[in-house]
Amino acid sequence: MGEFDLIKRYFNRQLPKFGVELSIGDDCAIVAHQADTRIAISTDTLVAGSHFLANISAADLAYKSIAVNLSDLAAMGAKPAWISLALTLDKVDHDWLAEFSHSLFAILDRYQTTLIGGDTTRGPLALTITAQGLLPKLDALLRQNAKEGDWIFVSGTIGDSAAGLALLLDGRKILEDDDRYLVQRHLCPTPRVELGLALRSFSRCAIDISDGLLADLNHILESSQVGAEIYLEHLPLSTPLLNRNNREQAEQFALTGGEDYELCFTVADDKRAEMEQVLHSQGMKVTCIGKIVAVKNGMQLFKYGQPVAFPTQIGFDHFNE
Ligand code: ADP
Ligand code: MG
Repeated sequence: MGEFDLIKRYFNRQLPKFGVELSIGDDCAIVAHQADTRIAISTDTLVAGSHFLANISAADLAYKSIAVNLSDLAAMGAKPAWISLALTLDKVDHDWLAEFSHSLFAILDRYQTTLIGGDTTRGPLALTITAQGLLPKLDALLRQNAKEGDWIFVSGTIGDSAAGLALLLDGRKILEDDDRYLVQRHLCPTPRVELGLALRSFSRCAIDISDGLLADLNHILESSQVGAEIYLEHLPLSTPLLNRNNREQAEQFALTGGEDYELCFTVADDKRAEMEQVLHSQGMKVTCIGKIVAVKNGMQLFKYGQPVAFPTQIGFDHFNE
């Protein structure tokens, strides 16, 4: 039984009420706020050994814990506003805490987000962050909004983070620029906040890639009751990833490796050209990798028109390894 089955079985019971417009099942919940705004809310936990290696620097840990939460806001098209931080420390190390808080406020300032509260406790190192952001009354990017005929896009390049993690797990010294780039993408992913905001004009459906492209796209397919075709020759793979891996290994990282924190989103055919023009003019890289099809077709992979077999494990699940 995987983590999503556990959530479904034990926690997904309530019908939305008291101003709850969207509850369990998307990157954020959405609650009513003022007449013209709503609040998007997401919580993410990072645990030593599971989400970060024990030797991560305090600065990188602070950055990443905020980045992954902002990424969930980006996936809804929300503008970040408030953060709560629950911090569990195994010991008090003032140098560590100074470095941690300095990095924390640097990324909060970068995204104009305010730390409004939290909790500080002793125990094995772990962080739980709740991020809240603002949405207009009507627009939001929801997993349930993909429609047959939509194009499927991803931002940036994918697979870099998983390749970077593999290098870190390998334990060798990182000497090459390409390896340094991949490790950096793993440690310091970019939350696509500006892209999420820009997408509100063109798209109605997005998710952030935290568990792997196929696993996360699959959440869109299930929520929207649609299928998808993915064209592997169009996957946006970075030069460092291709320099350090053969094409097949790079594709594997891109399809099933998690933690890229890029956005996967859909756009209707009649909005595609304008969206590409606007985003590219703003320097935002997005690539069309496939198409939404009827639910009966499920998810299918193609390479230069030929069907390709599915990888055996499609993504990360905390309870299904
Ligand atoms: P993400 O990867 O975007 O952070 P998750 O995969 O962690 O999202 O969670 C999937 C959905 O399940 C989210 O809507 C989340 O809020 C909800 N969820 C996860 N754990 C629980 C829980 N223990 N109780 C209620 N809802 C939960
Ligand atoms: Mg998410």
